[in-house]
Amino acid sequence: MAQCPICEENTVEPVLELRNIPVYCNALYRTAGEARAAPRGDLTLGFCAACGHGVNLSFDPGLMDYKVNYENSLHYSQTFQRYAKALVSHLARRYRLQGKTVLEIGSGRGDFLRLFCGLAKCKGIGFDPSLDKIEGNGSANNPLFLPESFRKDHLPGPVDLVICRHVLEHVAEPSLFVREIASAVGEESSAAGYFEVPSLEWIVERGAVWDLIYEHPQYFSLGSLRRLFERWGYATERLEREYGGQYLAIEVIFGEGLRGEARSLPATIQVSQVRSFAAGAQEVLSRWRSVLRPMLASGTAVAIWGIGSKAISFLNLLELGEEPLWLVDQNPRKVGKYAAGTGLRIHSPEELRSFGPEVVLVANSLYLGEIRGSLSDMGLKPQLLSIL
Ligand SMILES: [Zn+2]
Repeated sequence: MAQCPICEENTVEPVLELRNIPVYCNALYRTAGEARAAPRGDLTLGFCAACGHGVNLSFDPGLMDYKVNYENSLHYSQTFQRYAKALVSHLARRYRLQGKTVLEIGSGRGDFLRLFCGLAKCKGIGFDPSLDKIEGNGSANNPLFLPESFRKDHLPGPVDLVICRHVLEHVAEPSLFVREIASAVGEESSAAGYFEVPSLEWIVERGAVWDLIYEHPQYFSLGSLRRLFERWGYATERLEREYGGQYLAIEVIFGEGLRGEARSLPATIQVSQVRSFAAGAQEVLSRWRSVLRPMLASGTAVAIWGIGSKAISFLNLLELGEEPLWLVDQNPRKVGKYAAGTGLRIHSPEELRSFGPEVVLVANSLYLGEIRGSLSDMGLKPQLLSIL
């Protein structure tokens, strides 16, 4: 058995293999050819029974380069906006952030940090290697963005809260990463940290095999997320499943916690659950193939709305071939680009009208109401099928 990157026990058992999947589900390509030729890698899901952690045992960090045209903003969804605003007001109140400084690691294009600083009336610093040009960078009322991976020695001053959303699952050595953040904020400080990751519980409960993507070498459960911080003595303030159970959120106190004892915590997910998820994965995919292939073969106009990693991974795993299926996304930065692996073009909701979809697949059931509303506003009434 392999060693666990979280608890370091030699208790990681391989449970599921996905071969030759795209390395980036959130990268955008300029041509169909480039998108089809996108780099691929293998995923071997290993599960640690000691702490409840999932890890891609075949992960090669050398394949990853977040300077590619990477786009994963959920900023265009009203559902996400509501969630983001509630999260900001909670954190701003709890840590009294007015006039203070928030550091965001993995700030993407900065949508969340701008929203945060605006609502919480605080200063912001954002690190992200996929950043390029930034309007009004660091000027009054604007956060300062650094277009690079987080570096402790590039941090311009003390921070009061570290936000790190959907980053830990991309990191090959999460323990090292967390230690680096803790040492950057200062072991004497009482700075808080907010970390958010996808939930392994959700993937396993729903059989969401397409949520296993190459960009994510780590799959945290409540137990392994908490263990990641507490084994170094950082105290957990809050640990919850959020966003319809799809995300895990943890709040920790860095400095204060160091005086605490590293604890051994029970796993919140059992190896039997993960084994039965793995055993059923091919059946889940076969079921979707048997729904979609006859539809496409008979000329039914099928679209999929919401082109994030879930949709792109879903289409790649199903291998539907060159069938005319429309990809639709409301993020204008995605429209006109091509999706990794399948090489299918991404269309805007307005373009969808001319296609006249009879069936629209929804990649994430959380957006079902929002998408139904948008379709109805365009005078479209297709059958909606939620992938999950
Ligand atoms: Zn472990």
